[in-house]
This record gives sequence, structure tokens and C-alpha cells, in this order.
Amino acid sequence: MSMSSDTIVAPATGMTGAGIGIIRLSGDGALKIASVLFPGLKEMKSHTIRYGFLYDGDEVIDEVMVAFMKEPKSYTREDVVEINCHGGRRVMNRILECLIRNGARLAEPGEFTKRAFLNGRIDLTQAAAVMDIISSKSDFALKSSVRQLRGAVSLAVRRIREEILYQIAYIESALDDPEHYSLDGYSDALCMKIEGIRGDILRLLESADEGRILKEGINTVIIGKPNAGKSSFLNFLLGEERAIVTDIAGTTRDILSESVLVDGIVLNVIDTAGIRSVEDEVEKIGVERAIKYAGEAELIVFIIDSSVGIDENDLRIADLIRGKKVLFLLNKTDLRAKVGDEEIVDIVNRVYPHVDKAVDGIIKVSIKGNKGFDEFSKAVHSMFIKGGLDNHDEVYITNERHKEALYRAYESIDLVRQSLRKNMPEDFLTIDMMSAYESLGKIIGEHVDDDLVNEIFAKFCVGK
Ligand code: GDP
Repeated sequence: MSMSSDTIVAPATGMTGAGIGIIRLSGDGALKIASVLFPGLKEMKSHTIRYGFLYDGDEVIDEVMVAFMKEPKSYTREDVVEINCHGGRRVMNRILECLIRNGARLAEPGEFTKRAFLNGRIDLTQAAAVMDIISSKSDFALKSSVRQLRGAVSLAVRRIREEILYQIAYIESALDDPEHYSLDGYSDALCMKIEGIRGDILRLLESADEGRILKEGINTVIIGKPNAGKSSFLNFLLGEERAIVTDIAGTTRDILSESVLVDGIVLNVIDTAGIRSVEDEVEKIGVERAIKYAGEAELIVFIIDSSVGIDENDLRIADLIRGKKVLFLLNKTDLRAKVGDEEIVDIVNRVYPHVDKAVDGIIKVSIKGNKGFDEFSKAVHSMFIKGGLDNHDEVYITNERHKEALYRAYESIDLVRQSLRKNMPEDFLTIDMMSAYESLGKIIGEHVDDDLVNEIFAKFCVGK
């Protein structure tokens, strides 16, 4: 049941001059306040919509459709009225003014969702998902946010918490009531359980890095010696002529950064000047930058020109990007090949000295001829997404706050492990287990203080 009695109002859509704008009210007084402007509202059944005119006194101020949702079956679990009016700034402002004059208060950023949280309809992971859905830049980000809104992250976290709580309860009971609960041999069983819990937390933590880069985009550097086709590839990704493409080696000097969508995944591509050993000062700056960016990149697309043969520039690049996540593009396959399989294996081995990578890790393309792009996007997917975008079971942690809480829980569980090894008394273990339990609780919104709740919802936009 509703905890806040005042009634809030805000535009739920932008006031952009679109055909329709929505103004939303929530709270105990929503029905009474909106009825002043729309008298027919009083006779409306819950979850219906009605056509009519809005009045400010005797004056008609807009033609509208009004929807009414009685608590608790509404977004906030309070009485909610949504006015579908015309989308212009002046008309929406006028309606807001009238509603405020009649007793509503302008909502703070995120206040509707905050009420949904405080009234127990959603937990904090789901509230965060609302914002993530709105700001999604790619299919991956959207899908994982929708999954989070539907409770996937909560469920994973709750399962781990339940297991921890069960173990704590068992130990506490045994200490209180040794006649009925025995702790003989229990530490072996607990060791196994703790290993399991640790593994579950670790898996979620591991998904966090991947989740973050997939949500925000994979920082990608296209690298290759001059004329290999870097600018052409970037242009191909962008679908337009942006970088300067030229036959003269070393003309791409400025750093370009663009976000492109590759089959539902965002790549933030930094195009760098060609890497080569030259004395030219300007070119050197470009080379230095390329080296710097390659070091920070999460994905490197290494373009090799198959029509001129491998030379020391390719080898130097390979040495430079050792151990990074690299996709090798063998370009210009429309021309006569001057690069043999053995030379390619040599390049790949330089990048991955300890891994047995086959030549089929190389993607053969002709950027000019529009060939090989499908293979490229498939390779990006298999490198970054476990089980593909449609894998509904995979839970990704994409929120920094969640990651931090998981990390704290992981540390506490690790302390439990150490204590078990040292045969510490059981009541000692429960202290760290309890702090792991509480850290995990912060993810879903238990054990969080008001300041944090306010801080989280303040990041929302008004009307959400
Ligand atoms: P960058 O120096 O690595 O940025 O190379 P560019 O993108 O400027 O390309 C150098 C030259 O190679 C240009 O003339 C491109 O048109 C050409 N080129 C790029 N890709 C291909 C390809 O697949 N086949 C052929 N034949 N030429 C290509």
C-alpha cells in the first residue's frame, strides 16, 4: 500500500511539439486533483481511458484522453492518472500549472520509479533497469536491461543470498540448540557450499566487465600499416565517406572516433594513423597515438594487406598488440595474394605466443568489394557475447554499483574460506557470511540508506 500521501505530477514525455504528450499524476489525491480539470474522471472505472476536454475554470484548455489506474495496480502502486494531451510546450505547461494550482507537486527526477521501489513493486535492480532501457544504445544493452527489469539480476542475487542465509541459520541453530543440530563434520559440507557461493558470485563479477563494455560499446582500434585499408574499413562501418581514403601511404593522421553498430553491438572505433617506422615528425605523432590507443583498446582490428606481403611493419604491430583481443582481417583478397598461410600463422603466433590459434581465426575480406563483413560481425559476437544476444539465461551485470557490491560480497566469502581453512569457530564464520549477505542485499535495495536511494533516483529524468 502507498506510503507517500502527496500527489506528484510531471510530463512523462518530452514537451517537444509532438502530436501527443503525456502528463502523469501519482498519489492519494491524483483522482481528486485531475477531476477538477476533467470532471468525467470521477465516474471512470480503473484501467479505462476516456475522451473529453480539459477545463481551467470555464475555459477549455485542451482536448484529451485520460487514463486512470487505481492503486495498487499501477506503475507506482498509487492512484495514477495519465493525461494524453497535445504535445506542445505551452499547452503542457498550462495543464501542469493548473494541476499544481489544485494541489499536485512537481515530481523530482525519478520520483515515480522511486515510489514504485518504496512501495515494493520493483527492487533497485529493476529501477536501474528502467533508466538503462531508456538510455540503451544497442540491441545488447536493450535486451540485457529488459532482462534485468524482468528480475533476472534480482533472481541471481536472491538465490545466492538464500543459500548464505540458510547456512548462517543452520550454524546459529546448532550453536543455540546443540542437541538437535550437530556441527560434527559440518565444516566439510560448508566448505563445499562456500566454494559454490564463491563461484556464483565470481561468475556474476566476470559478467560485469563484459556487460559494461557491451552496454557502453567496445573500445576498438583499427590498426595496420599504411594503405592496408583502415580508413576504408572505418568508412565501410560508418556507411559513409568520412575518413580520408588515399593511395598515398600515411595520410590518416588525425584520430577519428565514431560509434558504429555491428549487428546489435556498439563499437567505439578509434581510427589511428598507420603504424610504420618513419622519421617524419607528424607521422610519428600518429604512430605514438596508435600505440597508446592500442594499449587501451578492448578490441583490435588488425588489417593486413594481402596484396603487398608481410613486412617488418606488420611484425612490429603484431609485437605491439601481443595478448590483446585481436581480430585479423586479411584485406584486398580481390587482388593477387602475396601473403602465404605460413606468414599469417607467424603473425598470429606473435600476437598469441602461447595459444594454439589456427589460420581460420583470420577473416578474409575485400573492403573495396564489400566482402567478409558477415564473418567479421560473427567474430565480434563470438568474441564478446556468451551464447549470443538471444540467450535468455545469461545474466549480465552492467551496473557499477552492483559490481562493487558483488566485489564486497566476494571478499567476505573469501574471508569465510580462509577462516574455514584455519578451523576458526563457527560463530566467527557467520560474521563474514552476514556481511556478504548484506553486501548482496545492497544490489536489490535491502540494507541501503535513504541517501543512497535518493542519489540513485536523482540520476533519473523528470517524469520517470
Ligand atoms: P589506410 O592507410 O590503412 O587507412 O588505407 P586506406 O583505407 O586509405 O586504403 C588504401 C588504398 O587501398 C585505397 O586506395 C583503397 O581504396 C584501397 N583498398 C582498400 N581496401 C581494398 C580492397 O579490399 N581491395 C582493393 N583492391 N583495394 C582496397
